[in-house]
Amino acid sequence: MEYEVVIGLETHVQLKTRTKMFCGCGTAFGATPNTHVCPVCLGYPGALPTLNGQAIRLTVMAGLMLGCDIAERSRFDRKNYFYPDSAKNYQITQNGAPLCLGGHVDLPGGRRIRLNHIHLEEDVGKLTHRPGCSGVDFNRGGLPLMEIVSEPDLRSPDEAIAYLTALREMMVYAGVSDCNLEEGNMRSDVNVSLRPKGQEAYGVKVEIKNMNTFSGIHAALEYEIARQTQALGQGRAIVQETRRWDPDLGETFTMRTKENAEDYRYFPEPDLPPVILTQAQIDAWANDLPEAPAARRERMMRDYGIPEYDAGVLSADRALADFFEAAAKRSGNGKLTSNWVMAEVLALTAREGTHVKDSALTPEALGDLLRLLDAKTINGPTAKALLPELFARGGDPAAIVKERGLAQVADAGAIEPLVEAALADNPKVVADYRAGKQAALGFLVGQVMKRSKGKASPQLVQQLLRDKLA
Ligand code: ADP
Ligand code: ZN
Ligand code: MG
Repeated sequence: MEYEVVIGLETHVQLKTRTKMFCGCGTAFGATPNTHVCPVCLGYPGALPTLNGQAIRLTVMAGLMLGCDIAERSRFDRKNYFYPDSAKNYQITQNGAPLCLGGHVDLPGGRRIRLNHIHLEEDVGKLTHRPGCSGVDFNRGGLPLMEIVSEPDLRSPDEAIAYLTALREMMVYAGVSDCNLEEGNMRSDVNVSLRPKGQEAYGVKVEIKNMNTFSGIHAALEYEIARQTQALGQGRAIVQETRRWDPDLGETFTMRTKENAEDYRYFPEPDLPPVILTQAQIDAWANDLPEAPAARRERMMRDYGIPEYDAGVLSADRALADFFEAAAKRSGNGKLTSNWVMAEVLALTAREGTHVKDSALTPEALGDLLRLLDAKTINGPTAKALLPELFARGGDPAAIVKERGLAQVADAGAIEPLVEAALADNPKVVADYRAGKQAALGFLVGQVMKRSKGKASPQLVQQLLRDKLA
């Protein structure tokens, strides 16, 4: 029997707010455990929650970015359970009336993955287990999360990763979340089942909880698909259950088998009013939305005449894309600018461990530098030599070129004597070249460039050398 893989993801994305969802506690990562807590997020009797408006705004922006319908009226519910990660014995979430409905994520190959909805909820505390004792840190309790629930439209582990990658790119782009995986900003519950090829009805699913690395998700899915294929092949039924991935053992294990919505005794949160949004408010937030990365990629290819690969690299980082676009507009040469940003600028930022937006290099300065290069006012080596300086200290390329006399010498009359001198000083190299050693030409070009203090046009030098040696 051949099986088809069916995957649906429930992805928790931490919203980029300064304070928690229902209180004024800060959201900074890595603080001493239990220092960002207060009576509200610890659930002291009588402490009342106040809704963080930013969390609503960011979730609406995410929903608009993902093509969801925004509910003008949504509501919070209590999910009741007893577990040490919650000091309140309940979690505030949205069960019946979520903020965003429908929507979709388009994968690079063109497949569209539908979303069921996006709802808001508060995060819970983090448990740490040591031999003989466990600790709980409530700093994370009450952080604002949105849960993005996909339909079971994904068909392979690779597709699940493509979906998460696209989702993450969009959320970071919209400024909704940092989606920092190491800090647990993006965690997924992974649902997976198999069904006989050609059958419409879904098979029994297994849910793997709280996965925070893409490689872990991929590996857990591979493992789970193999496990289910084997069980079904042997005529054993799959039990609907929640499983846990053990990255060290590379296996999933049963956590709990029975869990129904009724067990949580959901009811409307009595301490919070419903969230009511006007269309005017939603429209105002829509205005703050940046262009989606995929749309921007397409537009950059069109507007600047750059290949898909370049557009992909540049658009993946919003600040880099902004920098590129401003520089390309200034230089008037999209492909040249893209080559320089992707090779020279990214090499510098990697070496300095910084982002170009935090360097002294403005897009205008890069654009001007490339304009000088494009007009052959300066040569490539001079442009390359000036870049680190502009990167570290800034400055006006045209003024620097003028002040230091760096303009390229493209006058044959001025270069010819230098060529003659280089040939006269290197008779052995000349003989090598004449004997067929092509590499000797490069050496001679270098000698002439040196004599010109780097300012000669390398093309002209090469041409003059060839003529003389012919
Ligand atoms: P539950 O009631 O168990 O929480 P839901 O219908 O709410 O299930 O779906 C939760 C997640 O599981 C969704 O992301 C959905 O796409 C996914 N899912 C539902 N059924 C299946 C299935 N048979 N196989 C794989 N994923 C599924
Ligand atoms: Zn608090
Ligand atoms: Mg569910």
